[in-house]
Amino acid sequence: MKKDSEGPPSPLSGRVRDLRGVGPEREAQLKKLEIHTVMDLLLHRPRRYEDRRHLKSIRELTLDEAATTRGKVVAMGVKTFRNSNRSVFELVLEDETARLHCRWWNLPFMQNYFNAGDEVFIFGKPNSLKPRTIDHPESEVINGAEEISIHVNRIAPIYPLTEGLPQRWLRALIWRALEDFSQAIEDFLSEPPGDFPCRADAFRLLHFPETIDQAELGRKRLALDEFILLQRDIQARRRRFEEKSKAIPCPGDNRLIRPFLGALGFSLTTAQTRVLRELRQDLAGTHPMRRLLQGDVGSGKTAVAACCALMVIESGYNAALMAPTEILATQHYSNFLKWFGPLGVEVHLQTGSRKTFAEELTTDLLRRSPESTPKLFIGTHALIESGFAMDKLGLVMIDEQHKFGVVQRERLVRKGQYPHLLVMTATPIPRTLGLTIYGELDVSTIDELPKGRGTIKTFVRSTESLPKVWAFIRKQIDAGRQAYVVYPRVEETGSTGLKAVTKEFDHIQKLFPDRLVGLLHGKLDPESKQRVMDRFRSGEIQLLLSTSIIEVGMDVPNASIMLIENADQFGLAQLHQLRGRIGRGSHDSQCILVGAGKKAESRAKLKVMEDTLDGFKIAEADLRFRGPGELLGQSQSGAPSLRFGNLEGDYELILLARKIVSEEQGNSGTPPKPLKH
Ligand code: ADP
Ligand code: MG
Repeated sequence: MKKDSEGPPSPLSGRVRDLRGVGPEREAQLKKLEIHTVMDLLLHRPRRYEDRRHLKSIRELTLDEAATTRGKVVAMGVKTFRNSNRSVFELVLEDETARLHCRWWNLPFMQNYFNAGDEVFIFGKPNSLKPRTIDHPESEVINGAEEISIHVNRIAPIYPLTEGLPQRWLRALIWRALEDFSQAIEDFLSEPPGDFPCRADAFRLLHFPETIDQAELGRKRLALDEFILLQRDIQARRRRFEEKSKAIPCPGDNRLIRPFLGALGFSLTTAQTRVLRELRQDLAGTHPMRRLLQGDVGSGKTAVAACCALMVIESGYNAALMAPTEILATQHYSNFLKWFGPLGVEVHLQTGSRKTFAEELTTDLLRRSPESTPKLFIGTHALIESGFAMDKLGLVMIDEQHKFGVVQRERLVRKGQYPHLLVMTATPIPRTLGLTIYGELDVSTIDELPKGRGTIKTFVRSTESLPKVWAFIRKQIDAGRQAYVVYPRVEETGSTGLKAVTKEFDHIQKLFPDRLVGLLHGKLDPESKQRVMDRFRSGEIQLLLSTSIIEVGMDVPNASIMLIENADQFGLAQLHQLRGRIGRGSHDSQCILVGAGKKAESRAKLKVMEDTLDGFKIAEADLRFRGPGELLGQSQSGAPSLRFGNLEGDYELILLARKIVSEEQGNSGTPPKPLKH
């Protein structure tokens, strides 16, 4: 690749302050918008467009409907209210058809922006028609602007502004910058694919389109460029990784897997078998495996992980499995103990509360027999703490990876010399993120649930119907089933109106005097948690009241009811995970979501849960509701900052970018040009 520093600096990196008409005050305002260079200016994306060729006359304005109109200032003034410091500035506009009153509350300085006789564009929603009134509209004075053709009789871009920066001034500046600098915009595709414009044209279309479709085309081309940069980055990282790392050879020889599968008590699903083949290929390959295993809750990822661990152990290396909670780590531990014990494979548990024990154990074991037989280490994040050493680490597996950050993942990987990495998730990664944020990982998907499972039905209910819900739960309990009941809080705090599990516990115990009710939340000490879990698993406890702590991994097939109170407090991915705790046995299961709240969005969210069990659909809806930044959360750094690209909808563009970059790589004779800005 060519270096960025080659050749003379691009005129696009020139400072905006050197542009005609940009003084210190304007420079400071532009800086607030993160506009420092000419390129920054060109990248300033309109937040909307206004078709100023087809304006409504003032008479045509309708109530509560946003529209643009124009008129001449016929009167204006600030009114202050006695005995308070409130004020209203009122501007009266007139066109050939009617008058319009525009009002701004407590912004008296607005009067400085207008003069009688000014021609003004107004955008807003009329809140009254008698007289026609719009409160706090967007406004733009258009007379006096020297380049009137930039602002009227066209589709005008409306930009994000900062205080004191006039819309039309910024628009004119961008217009001139496009005229003066667009020859300097380098294209980094020799030929834009399909109907895509060249990069310079894309900027023109984005800022001054002739149709709204053109603006979208411009955006898409610029988004494509962003995705290309992102893909180059991802693919380069991947190449660097492959160059410097050599895989630990773990082809296995089946001597452990065969008896393991024989004793499992069920045969693997077609999907599990397919995924296992993919894993085996990776483990026997020349580069360390970097693979994401996604499969909906209950699809049987653990059994696949166990096979993967056995292949590595067969090959003479240790394996590690990290889980996000102590409960889940302990559950895995007892499962693997049951599975691996008969095979003579040692399994160790390393959690916060069992640390000392395990530390002693490992150092002791290592001291005694450094060449000892390979084992499986299971634990929480305690596994990555520095004191804990894992010798001959061949495989790192991370369960429920969305609960961990990239950093934690890397720290565990660094415990070894380029061990193989398998990360597992039941929260499907929306396709767009799979190709971007998770772009360095290969993806395997278990897209099939084991047969013989009962159905899961989901119901959204109001708080008023709780008595009926409890009557239903009683029937199910009497029939031998078990239930989870989830609350958003451990303890009541203030007047949030949210239910707390410790308070409800007393209430539910009274409701079920003849049954054993369990209580589980993060503030209990590990032993108590473990005791409650064991008693729920054995069926002794029939109702388990909990916080979302049970969200991941819990596997109790006889539990067929999931009641979630204040359900709107939980994210979609979380609700999906919680619902994944049921439907694991042969009984039909019911998930009841109580408390949709009044907000349309929370109702829509819960409706998604009612409508589908498909984790992929839920993940995509979650992405729509929350946006990629929040979806990935703090823990997942590396969400790309995209100005034009949209991780919610640009799947096709991302695919195209991937294809373009792969072709660039294949065709190494002509190295891709870096973007200069
Ligand atoms: P998840 O993918 O959510 O981690 P688990 O690995 O916990 O799912 O598996 C859920 C349950 O299904 C477990 O009880 C497991 O033993 C069982 N299971 C896994 N694979 C199969 C299979 N092929 N047939 C029947 N049951 C299976
Ligand atoms: Mg699991």
